[in-house]
Amino acid sequence: MTSVWVYSDLISHTMKNSNLQIETLTVHAGVEPDPTTGAVMTPIYQTSTYAQTGINEHKGYDYSRSGNPTRTALQNALAALENGRFGLVYSSGMAAIDNMMRLIKPGEHVIVGDDVYGGTFRLLDKVLADYGIQFSFVDTTDVAAVEQAIQSNTRLIWLETPTNPTLRITDIAALAEIAHANGAWLGVDNTFASPILQKPLDLGADLVVHSTTKYIGGHSDVVGGAIILNDETMHVRLAFLQNAIGAVPGPMDCFLTLRGIKTLAIRMKTHCENAMRVSQFLADHPAVKEVIYPGLDTHPQHELAKRQMKGPGGMVAFTLNEGVEAAVNVAKKTQLFTLAESLGGVESLIELPAPMTHATVSNSPLAVDPALVRISVGIENVDDLIADLQQALTQ
Ligand SMILES: *Cc1c(COP(=O)(O)O)cnc(C)c1O
Repeated sequence: MTSVWVYSDLISHTMKNSNLQIETLTVHAGVEPDPTTGAVMTPIYQTSTYAQTGINEHKGYDYSRSGNPTRTALQNALAALENGRFGLVYSSGMAAIDNMMRLIKPGEHVIVGDDVYGGTFRLLDKVLADYGIQFSFVDTTDVAAVEQAIQSNTRLIWLETPTNPTLRITDIAALAEIAHANGAWLGVDNTFASPILQKPLDLGADLVVHSTTKYIGGHSDVVGGAIILNDETMHVRLAFLQNAIGAVPGPMDCFLTLRGIKTLAIRMKTHCENAMRVSQFLADHPAVKEVIYPGLDTHPQHELAKRQMKGPGGMVAFTLNEGVEAAVNVAKKTQLFTLAESLGGVESLIELPAPMTHATVSNSPLAVDPALVRISVGIENVDDLIADLQQALTQ
């Protein structure tokens, strides 16, 4: 197989451990001028197939489920951002998690954080459990509890940090050590932090997963997922699964995600600054009972967050003195904060996890406090955001 103009696989390798700073990587990583025209921005290769000059003689691409240049650019960009060797992208975050879980065989055991995204719990508990994979849901902020849950057939520890929606922080390096001492992998869903704030591979994780729908895409206009990793054997298997299962993103989706990445560093900076101000405002407000935000020193893992993350992120959760009814009212009365699921976009969103994003865990041990309000603080002017919450809280 000849490959004359493939978007260089070298990009992710040369940029790994490069001296370039993250703001530079967000703009340049994975992207080279187009080899045929010199186009500076990666073109949307809206094609399903590629002309061959002889049987299996082509330029590195033969069919777009197996590979597409726009997708290659995105995969290399994400690998560079996470300081990993390999990136693989999928049609959604759930497709990425499903592909990753295919590394686990019937009869094997997975330890899962007990505060994971509702859709993740649904996939594990309602789909994959039927195929003979065993799951234990454990509070991964408690290192001893994780160690106790290890079995001889444990292959993977899977967690989110910060968690969705209660923003608990797990010590990635400590759990990587426990996983490796027991012949298991550590996988981290890095969706809430983004690679700007946290690099799990550098802390010892084996697999990083993203819902690129959220901060990485950043504009609430595309759904996607990614896996980033260093191990070559695992990459060969996952690349095989990516093609075999076929839950791949189209070139337009890859283009939109790549475009979002260009501003990821500056967006995350503003998300963090705005969320810090908003959480301080909420903490001081008489109608508010509790604010959960890793940037506040009242957060139970505040010190760990400071050590492990470059910033506390853009997600804030809170409860009100008047309980569920007041929570519903606030979510309905904000005007700039749109009542909607999802997170990580430039615009601010508000929701109640229990009946919305986490409805699927409502009758499980993972059930969320029905009075909890979750906000995704956007990059609008923070004074406007605070004024909006102020009016919603006083009504
Ligand atoms: C949204 C989300 C997912 C699922 O991603 P989709 O792109 O919606 O499939 C997984 N993990 C976390 C933490 C999420 O927020």
